[in-house]
Amino acid sequence: MRIENLRNKMREQGLDGMLITDPYNRRYLSGFTGSTATLLVTATQQLIMVDFRYYERAEYEAPAWTQVRVTGKTTEALAEMVRLAGVRRLGFEADHVTVAQLKEMQGAVGDVEWVPTEKFVLPMRMIKEKTEVAAIRRAIACADAAFAYLCQTIRPGMTEREVAWMLESYMRQHGANELAFPTIVGAGPNGAMPHATAGDRPIRPGEPVVIDFGATVDGYRSDITRTICLGRPEDEQYLEVWKLVLQAQQAAEAQIRPGMTGRQADALARDLLVAAGYGEHFGHGLGHGVGLEIHEGPRVSRLSDDETLRPGMVFTVEPGLYLPGRFGVRIEDIVLLHEDGCEVLTRAVKEPLIMM
Ligand code: ZN
Ligand code: ZN
Repeated sequence: MRIENLRNKMREQGLDGMLITDPYNRRYLSGFTGSTATLLVTATQQLIMVDFRYYERAEYEAPAWTQVRVTGKTTEALAEMVRLAGVRRLGFEADHVTVAQLKEMQGAVGDVEWVPTEKFVLPMRMIKEKTEVAAIRRAIACADAAFAYLCQTIRPGMTEREVAWMLESYMRQHGANELAFPTIVGAGPNGAMPHATAGDRPIRPGEPVVIDFGATVDGYRSDITRTICLGRPEDEQYLEVWKLVLQAQQAAEAQIRPGMTGRQADALARDLLVAAGYGEHFGHGLGHGVGLEIHEGPRVSRLSDDETLRPGMVFTVEPGLYLPGRFGVRIEDIVLLHEDGCEVLTRAVKEPLIMM
């Protein structure tokens, strides 16, 4: 099915061969999870070029693919593969191949027309299949469980980094193959920087903490943010801001429908925050697609006029408000879009306070 979609697109663009080098697209199309391989798809053939390290893995992970073995120079093997496949108009992923790599490949592969393509496979990946949704659910459940564990164990005085490590080690021990991305733990004013990582700051009682993390399970990622405060908040505006962000999130999750653009979906949350006088403090988009990559299509933001949300898409809903020098609040779920609206896949509790 995935290969058929690719071939249809190749036909539309008059390509008789397509070279896939992006690791996520490679995995999506072939199932191969190793670090290095090149795919060549034609109307009738599907070839995977691997070196000695991956002969065996390619055989069991990508059994439907004909293996081309690299024994000398990679570019020579590539040239041989393209020649044997009889390709004349060869598409390549211009959004992944570097200029130097292209030069090298062109030098080795003789009489072929190189056709740059952009976002060739990504749009296919936006609509998730059942097995993909199942993997995302597992990645979400892993992070949800880690957060429940954290709520039991977090104490004032722990540093941001210690909190990050508790989440990370928990996820590793409970099924995560790797982290989905570097964990963010931002206490107090650090939380007002949307993408601070986790530093040496000890978390004080009464200080809001933004915690953003995720697991990777079977290649698929999860992404969750919760904002909590250990004990009575010292900033009296915190609870008001927290409730407002939650309202904005719930409004979006309840009203997003297929057919909306990313901008329209974003507005469901944004209008509410603007009306409350906080518009300038919501500086990022409402959400992003999640799958094999932590950020993929669709883009759910003010800048997304051209992308329409469709059933089968999986994306985050993550409004946030950031008060510089004071604190930040972000609450993030992952949703799966159905014909009749969003199914919220994230189950972790949303509570503004953890009483000590
Ligand atoms: Zn996140
Ligand atoms: Zn996110």
